[in-house]
Amino acid sequence: MEKTDLLSLSLEELAEELALMGEKKFRAKQIFQWLHVKRVFDLDEMTDISVQLRQRLKEKFCVNGLFVQKRLESAIDNTVKYLYRLSDGNFVETVLMEYNYGRSICVSTQVGCKMGCNFCASTIAGYVRSLSPSEILMQIYETERDAGIRVSGVVLMGIGEPLDNFDNVMRFLELVSHKDGNNLSLRHVTLSTCGIVPRIYELAEKRLGLTLSVSLHSADNRRRSEIMPVNRTYDIGELLEACRYYIQHTGRRVTFEYAVIEGVNSSEADADKLSGLLRGMNCHVNLIPVNRVRERSYHTGRSGVARFAKMLEQRGINATVRRTLGSDIEAACGQLRRDAGQQDGTLEGGADQ
Ligand code: SAH
Repeated sequence: MEKTDLLSLSLEELAEELALMGEKKFRAKQIFQWLHVKRVFDLDEMTDISVQLRQRLKEKFCVNGLFVQKRLESAIDNTVKYLYRLSDGNFVETVLMEYNYGRSICVSTQVGCKMGCNFCASTIAGYVRSLSPSEILMQIYETERDAGIRVSGVVLMGIGEPLDNFDNVMRFLELVSHKDGNNLSLRHVTLSTCGIVPRIYELAEKRLGLTLSVSLHSADNRRRSEIMPVNRTYDIGELLEACRYYIQHTGRRVTFEYAVIEGVNSSEADADKLSGLLRGMNCHVNLIPVNRVRERSYHTGRSGVARFAKMLEQRGINATVRRTLGSDIEAACGQLRRDAGQQDGTLEGGADQ
């Protein structure tokens, strides 16, 4: 029988499991705190649990750890990129970033991605599987342990499409913010999506208090469908309607991500279209210079981002330019891969090996 990963269980599920084993419910909270507060994942180290119970638990449960395969530190901005090996041998990347208010972590939600955005490295090697709640959470716990820090913010902006792994991501959010556990306010969590419309409605119903970030990248349907295949299923009109519903239902402002790509989405006409679409909406535009992906030839052009920001400003649209972090180690937006090491031929041993 395959063992259940303890770290993916909610406190209630853990209590039910223990009840089934004839144990008292308060044990669940003890175990939950060992895992999520003390970060002890070996049942043998949970010293206030009897040896017999630990033994019985080990027969049914496990904690699938992740291992640091490679750690790359940026020479320019203190960004650290981790290549993690999962228990089944797959890899994902995680990025630890430094801002003046603290550390923030960018986690992956899937091994690879099936969305096919053609400016993004995460989709190039295809999709393998979704991550479990435990594997998403462990990226935070393991990075915090390795770096000896606590993060103050989490962004679901690594490899994969969070809304294509909806249930596991919802469980992850419950675990990361649980008051008896890690206790991170969802106000400090951002979920980024390429625009899976039905799941945006579903997320709105949950009224979670996180920040929803939508990768828009073009205000023109034909152009957006060329660069983001998801637009062929859910077009800009449907996407913005879902965003309006989200704003109305949650009272939260939505962020639109817009990677400025020369010759694709940064002309005066593009600024007209974008401002026309967003005018009056409780939103914010985050401009990103398109980051280099070695298989592609997209670029932002000289002062492209600043120029486009100005065009939007002149049209009354609130836009900021996002700092690019970790570009020297391919840790910036859209540069993460599920097989980073193998691609550039440097996967020899690992930082911890
Ligand atoms: N699948 C989700 C989560 C990924 S977040 C989503 O699409 O939102 C990663 C962010 O980086 C997204 O906004 C994505 O569109 C953007 N991105 C992808 N490739 C990029 C690149 N080469 N340069 C800049 N941003 C990029």
